[in-house]
Amino acid sequence: MNKNQINQQLFQLLEAGVTPFHVVSYVEEKLLGAGYQSLKMTESWKLQKGGTYYVKHNDSSLFAFRIGEKVTENSMIKMAAAHTDHPCLHIKPAPEVNGAGYAQVNVEVYGGPILNTWLDRPLSVAGRIAIREKGSRQPKVELFDAKKHILTIPNLAIHMNRDVNKGVELNRQTDLLPILGMVKESLEEDNFFLSYLAKELDVAMEDILDYELFIYNPEKPEFVGLEEELISSPRLDDLTSVCALVQGLLDGSDKESISLIALFNHEEIGSKTKQGADSMVLNHLIDKMQIALGRTEEQRIMGLYNGTLLSVDVAHAMHPNKQAKTDITNKPLLNGGMVIKEACVQSYATDCEAVGIVASLCLDNNISYQKFVNRSDERGGGTLGSLASSMSPVKTIDIGVPMLAMHSARECMGAEDELALYQLLCAYFS
Ligand SMILES: [Zn+2]
Repeated sequence: MNKNQINQQLFQLLEAGVTPFHVVSYVEEKLLGAGYQSLKMTESWKLQKGGTYYVKHNDSSLFAFRIGEKVTENSMIKMAAAHTDHPCLHIKPAPEVNGAGYAQVNVEVYGGPILNTWLDRPLSVAGRIAIREKGSRQPKVELFDAKKHILTIPNLAIHMNRDVNKGVELNRQTDLLPILGMVKESLEEDNFFLSYLAKELDVAMEDILDYELFIYNPEKPEFVGLEEELISSPRLDDLTSVCALVQGLLDGSDKESISLIALFNHEEIGSKTKQGADSMVLNHLIDKMQIALGRTEEQRIMGLYNGTLLSVDVAHAMHPNKQAKTDITNKPLLNGGMVIKEACVQSYATDCEAVGIVASLCLDNNISYQKFVNRSDERGGGTLGSLASSMSPVKTIDIGVPMLAMHSARECMGAEDELALYQLLCAYFS
């Protein structure tokens, strides 16, 4: 795949992947199209050499793997992980708020968004909804996407806050309630949101048992710059990585190893959930896979220690207007290639042997890369690599594309860097 092709793949995922559920559903379609077979953690597996499989967990995490045609009981497991969620707003139960004539919905903050970037934009709603199935304890769970600009959170006019440009602290309960319209008879006063959902889903309002609905930015990805050197889009964190992992797995050709991608939910809220990277799910999946391949208990432990994990998540590029926020000798730039992230406190999984493996891959395949470390007086972020590798103790390294405005409702990356990341994943899985 060339630059245009991989960026096109990325744009499709950015538009479709508006919630973790939609990311998983999009990836599932792609894998099915490529002949991958669905497996369940609750069933016994029979795996074939050369076979390709995927497992969904809680509809919002997904694992896919290919068993190379020539794997033996000692073959290694090559893994790469990314996350399906992004910081945003989440709709609470009993959401209707009558704001003195304005129909509003009650929301809470998911993860760490830059809150004021969510103001003054047309917004939409998506997620999944549990619908009662009469006579069954198991509800029907449906994906939902309003696909319309149904909400907005207006700023207060500058005339009512003359200090607005000195910075505004937004109250998470009172300042972020989006407006859905005006309360009138057509928006029945007490349940205007639930009745809207019921109508959209064509079910009775009382049959909506629960939902996980997020407010998302429906704006499309766009190229920016005199020569379209940049990409501006919602959800670059971490769909850039999801795109590279999926495409890298599909285009990789390793016959001697097991190639596996893990797309986890809940990175933005710490990963410590049943479908997060800091859970047993990856470990159990690897175990099930090795059992199905007939490995003994000792071979399974050997297989795990023989593995490698690329933890793929976005990295901070140096900001031109705030250069002093970046380390004094490591200054990643947009379009400078993918980034290897290091931190001695292991907020980014770091060991020089693992970094050496990735750096060699880059050098052998002409893939440009740069390094990121935090300034010593900045705490910086973390990601799922160290957490996942504390559950599955494999050699781990943190990488990703460089970007600006991380966790904004619209983030910014270089138009060259997705290709570098994709090429690395292809090389890793080949
Ligand atoms: Zn991320």
